[in-house]
Amino acid sequence: MAAEFDLIARCFARAPRRADVPLGIGDDAALLTVPPRCELVVAVDTLVAGVHFLADCAPHAIGHKALAVNLSDLAAMGADPAWALLALTTPDLDEAWAAACMAGFEALARRHDVDLVGGDTTRGPLTITVTALGHVPAGQALRRAGARVGDAIYVSGTVGAAGAALAAQVGGAALPDAAAIAAQARLDYPQPRVALGRALRGLAHAAIDVSDGVAADLGHMLTASGVGATLELAALPLGPGVPDTPQGRLAALVAGDDYELCFAVPPGAALGALATVHGPLTRIGTVEAAAGLRVLGSDGAPVALGRRGYEHHA
Ligand code: ADP
Ligand code: MG
Repeated sequence: MAAEFDLIARCFARAPRRADVPLGIGDDAALLTVPPRCELVVAVDTLVAGVHFLADCAPHAIGHKALAVNLSDLAAMGADPAWALLALTTPDLDEAWAAACMAGFEALARRHDVDLVGGDTTRGPLTITVTALGHVPAGQALRRAGARVGDAIYVSGTVGAAGAALAAQVGGAALPDAAAIAAQARLDYPQPRVALGRALRGLAHAAIDVSDGVAADLGHMLTASGVGATLELAALPLGPGVPDTPQGRLAALVAGDDYELCFAVPPGAALGALATVHGPLTRIGTVEAAAGLRVLGSDGAPVALGRRGYEHHA
């Protein structure tokens, strides 16, 4: 027990940086000041060794990713992230491992002005759970529901790179060196689209972050909105390491771990100014009344998506 408290004191305890944290780590709970006329936005995600990351993944990357996936959820809501809680379960009290994990966590936290305000430290199979908290002006959060017939569907950045890196790692597929490094970075150090999410407030009718693949996550958004869509495979912006072939594009469509934003905007919405600030925003499809997701290949012919995780919408 004493060792646990030492580890907490050395690795996790820190003075709050933000003025809206009257009481941070060290008491039984933290006290947070939510700005007036705002709603609190909360998300939690768990990463399990062997399931969400490979057992030999660098602790620095694990710490980064555990926070990144949660900030991505806040981004998809159009929220301003502010605080985080960290529950860490490790097989032993390996302080070097914990310190490296916290360095990865902290670097990303600083970039987004997020304060770690509490957590829990336990022994068991390696598992890291982060709760991210933020706020949004009341009524302005982006939701999955709200896409309307005729809306344009966009995706930020590029997709498929994390999936290509994972396929290379577990399947031994060879990637060209430069692309392999870039793709691996997308897998290990996803960058949550926080600023873009905030900028989409009042503009996007609906939004979701791409964690399970564009097809699956767009599918969730369409279902929540009670609409369907047609998506053009040729329009999909491919990340590094994704071969520009029909199979490569299909793989990118169902690959997870991209943490880009997918969103629906009114047909005429001009996104040029947004793209100059937030990087490429690519129109990939159109919302339609008929339920389901239809995918057109480069030749304009319908393409069947037959991959697990997507049957739900087939
Ligand atoms: P309690 O038994 O009251 O839950 P703990 O001994 O678990 O308290 O934790 C003591 C303090 O350290 C609390 O403020 C808690 O939020 C914080 N803490 C514990 N583990 C972590 C961690 N992994 N990351 C951040 N804060 C932590
Ligand atoms: Mg506790």
